[in-house]
Amino acid sequence: MILILLGPPGCGKGTQAKRLEDAHGLVQLSTGDMLRAAVASGSEMGQQAKKIMEAGELMPDEIMVEIISERIDQPDCANGFILDGFPRTTPQATALDKLLDAKSLSLGKVIVLKVNEKALVERITGRYSCSNCGAGYHDTFQQPKQDGVCNSCGGTEFTRRADDNEETVRSRLGAYHAQTAEIVPYYEQRDIVAEIDGMQDIDNVTVAIQGVIG
Ligand code: ADP
Ligand code: AMP
Repeated sequence: MILILLGPPGCGKGTQAKRLEDAHGLVQLSTGDMLRAAVASGSEMGQQAKKIMEAGELMPDEIMVEIISERIDQPDCANGFILDGFPRTTPQATALDKLLDAKSLSLGKVIVLKVNEKALVERITGRYSCSNCGAGYHDTFQQPKQDGVCNSCGGTEFTRRADDNEETVRSRLGAYHAQTAEIVPYYEQRDIVAEIDGMQDIDNVTVAIQGVIG
């Protein structure tokens, strides 16, 4: 099964993708995580990504398509994958169609998470993750069971994303409206889109997604 999780930054794509990975044996392909790894590596592409991500803008389509094209050829994607943060523009969506066609693969569902702007800003500015295993948390909405200790790995170090500040969030939301939102109608022509109320709590969003993918 190949799924796309679509929606503005902070709507819950990563949170739900991790749950789908566990429940369905799918692999989460987060282009944001891949770019953050490139930034950490200090590679030339990582240096370019750092500037673009700090400005809340989008990386060039050709680079992103190349990254995804290589990634979906890896053996762990053979059982299916969840695209989280890709495609983000119409050219990325059309390039993905070509890539999948060439491999005789087809898209299962495009799940669109609908969340209002006030909640997005709240979610993003309160987001943090475990430095060791990457498990995601929120200051208010998703706290570790034991204060300061990661539920998944017991780690005690946490980190916040450099671009999770209110100013960059505004640019990222602008990029979503200007460049990403238009791909929803692109997929709607194919009858594979499911819109989910992402304002529900995390568990209820998971239940709604399960209802769509079976
Ligand atoms: P995205 O991957 O779409 O940018 P995340 O999954 O990282 O978003 O979620 C952003 C933040 O909001 C995280 O801190 C997460 O814990 C929290 N969050 C995710 N889904 C919900 C929800 N349904 N209700 C409240 N908070 C949520
Ligand atoms: P995310 O982790 O999905 O919020 O992405 C963080 C940042 O990485 C975005 O604000 C963009 O700068 C960049 N990025 C991630 N995925 C893409 C993509 N598919 N196309 C262009 N830029 C991307």
